[in-house]
Amino acid sequence: MAYDQNNIFAMILRGDIPCDKVYEDEFALAFNDINPQAPIHALVIPKGEYVSMADFSANAPAELLNGFFRAVGQTARNLGLEKEGYRLIANTGENAHQEVPHLHFHILSGKKLGPMLTR
Ligand code: AMP
Repeated sequence: MAYDQNNIFAMILRGDIPCDKVYEDEFALAFNDINPQAPIHALVIPKGEYVSMADFSANAPAELLNGFFRAVGQTARNLGLEKEGYRLIANTGENAHQEVPHLHFHILSGKKLGPMLTR
């Protein structure tokens, strides 16, 4: 799938639309989800044109892969989630119901989240 430069997270990265930022470094930007599914719900996105985890893991340079995953961990630390714990989700493609075609990790916490999927 080709990267769509007009997806909403590309616009946020360019500064075309605002976000509620929680962390930023040279590799990643993290911001609060506009429609939170838990008391804490942040998204972490890499600074690069990657559609999904499949695309990013296959095509990103090592420095960005490394920096991005450090940024995910740092965002969770900044949110104070080390002790209580959190869930990471990266929906990829149709089966996972990925809505925005720019790789993003959801960080969910702030309450007991229960089992991962409802049966
Ligand atoms: P996914 O289904 O994994 O692609 O998740 C996309 C997420 O992006 C959803 O949780 C949306 O609520 C969130 N989202 C969409 N637009 C924005 C926005 N402008 N700012 C923050 N979060 C957004």
